[in-house]
Amino acid sequence: MERYQLFIGGKFCDAVDGETRFTYNPATEEPIAEVPVGKKEDARRAIECARKAFDSGIWSNMSVRDRAKILYKVIERLKEKEQELATLEAMDAGATIRKTSMMDIPVGIEHFRLLVELAEKIPTYEPLPWIDFPYVSWNFVNREPIGVCAGIIPWNFPFMMTVWKVAPALVMGNTVVLKPASDTPLTALEFAKCAAEAGLPDGVLNVVIGSGSEVGEELCTNPMVDKVALTGSTETGRKVMKLCADTIKKVTLELGGKSPTIILEDADLDVAVDGALFGTFFHAGQVCESGTRCFVPSSIYDKFMEKMLERVKHIKVGDPLDYETTMGPVVSLAQYKTVTGYIELGKQEGARLLCGGKRPDGFEKGYFIEPTIFDNVSNQMRIAQEEIFGPVLAVIRYDDVDEAVRMANDSIYGLGGAVFSKDIPKAIEIAKRIRTGTVWINDYHLINALAPFGGYKQSGVGRELGPHGLLEYTQIKHIHVDLVMDRSKKFWYDYIFND
Ligand code: NAP
Ligand code: MG
Repeated sequence: MERYQLFIGGKFCDAVDGETRFTYNPATEEPIAEVPVGKKEDARRAIECARKAFDSGIWSNMSVRDRAKILYKVIERLKEKEQELATLEAMDAGATIRKTSMMDIPVGIEHFRLLVELAEKIPTYEPLPWIDFPYVSWNFVNREPIGVCAGIIPWNFPFMMTVWKVAPALVMGNTVVLKPASDTPLTALEFAKCAAEAGLPDGVLNVVIGSGSEVGEELCTNPMVDKVALTGSTETGRKVMKLCADTIKKVTLELGGKSPTIILEDADLDVAVDGALFGTFFHAGQVCESGTRCFVPSSIYDKFMEKMLERVKHIKVGDPLDYETTMGPVVSLAQYKTVTGYIELGKQEGARLLCGGKRPDGFEKGYFIEPTIFDNVSNQMRIAQEEIFGPVLAVIRYDDVDEAVRMANDSIYGLGGAVFSKDIPKAIEIAKRIRTGTVWINDYHLINALAPFGGYKQSGVGRELGPHGLLEYTQIKHIHVDLVMDRSKKFWYDYIFND
């Protein structure tokens, strides 16, 4: 069994006290690797290395082009390991090999490349209008790196989240301390190996595994950290924001969701039914933007639901390492208990269980849950308001589109959502009325590295990806150049001189 180490200051090392534990495969419940248990002291060492690397200018003063050259080498190295990473991700996170080999790893690497390319095109110099009050001056903005950026990531897309936190921060000239989720640390550590092999200077990237309360909290409170970017639950987001307040850190938060899928009467049924199922059951529903509330018009309700209950049977639950499998287990026993608890709650609240609701027959081990669909759901029920983060869909019937939009927006969350209709202008009108950061029309989940992603309301703060996401890793420096060299014209100096 492989034994992993922390990555601090360019070196692989054990936790300060040598403690280790196992990480498990949620499909078999078997241990798959031994990993260190990082402590506050390890986080501090990593932060110091990142601070030193940043302050030395070895990375922050390098041109974007030179940073990109090194990052492209990391990308090359990751590409060489693509298949190995896909297998490891499947084993550690319970993601299907079908998904990790088609999506998580290759698309993650592609996001990395697109972000580096985009950074090379984003001007760090931004002209401002000429200012002639109180006299002529030349003003411009220089975009500068923020400093030491901490990335705290969840267990649902461990490799992709590593890329989303590390790539934009590094390419914009920051240094990074990354904390993977305790349940899924392995591909982030493989990422660190690739970075080291590619010649990333020491201390520019550090990876520390450890609990949220040890390593995570140190990252949020240590005064040497300038920014924290978290992807995780809204509850953790609240804590992180509070912890970061004392040292006024910059924060970006990518949090939970309860996103709406609104089906219109004229939707193409094949696209809409499969789209609604894809929106919910992709990665067993463990996706922050999942469309877990599906609003279906009464006029097509029976036809839509009949098709949905037929199509859901084509989702194949099973061994994640089998390419035929399209849905694996949920990530951990804790998550299994949460999701099955919500299924019981849905029944108690009076929703009607149409399919699923339990561990599939024939599975003795592993945290598998069948694709589960409830209808007769009211938007006020807890299964329609709270993030379940598992394979559970709540179908809500509506009579009038305005009512559907009102219910869609009646949520503390605002991350994603979709509208299915053949009438594109009408769908765009509705998309604009949905208060979330991303709305897909006739699709779901397609996240493009060149477009911003993030949440309204309690789904987050700031944006990741795209130009907006890259600029979240910069400071705005205003430079004012006074072009007047004649003291007699500088009448404003006389605010203090009386001669
Ligand atoms: P979580 O607790 O929010 O964890 C996300 C990350 O934050 C992990 O690395 C975690 O470390 C860390 N963390 C936890 N407490 C922290 C603290 N006090 N200070 C700093 N960092 C801290 O999410 P989870 O436990 O993985 O999942 C719980 C629920 O969150 C899920 O059921 C789901 O509803 C939601 N979730 C949302 C997303 C999303 O993308 N929006 C992703 C995953 C989960 P540890 O792993 O060591 O605890
Ligand atoms: Mg695991």
